[in-house]
Amino acid sequence: MKLVFTHPHHFAVANVRNQLAQRGIACELRNEFAAGALGELAPIDVWPELWVLDDRDYDIAQRWIEADQTQANGRDWYCGQCGELNAASFDHCWACQRERRLD
Ligand SMILES: [Zn+2]
Repeated sequence: MKLVFTHPHHFAVANVRNQLAQRGIACELRNEFAAGALGELAPIDVWPELWVLDDRDYDIAQRWIEADQTQANGRDWYCGQCGELNAASFDHCWACQRERRLD
């Protein structure tokens, strides 16, 4: 197992896990519920972590994450259902929860 991604916000880590899972890369989320331990541990130690189960998936997982981050930083998007503008990092519309479409 290798640590492939960590981020202070749970939703960001869960999002990466979902992205990798869709590509057949098995991952495990750790520290998912560790926020309750804040105050006893240094904050960095309780960030949610994403680990790839198979070390051979590490390099490709890293590349996917980089590509997704680049894309996420790239452009905001308009919801196809309600027309609201969403931040590039959202994968669901904040207003109506419709899933983002990349087409
Ligand atoms: Zn919407």
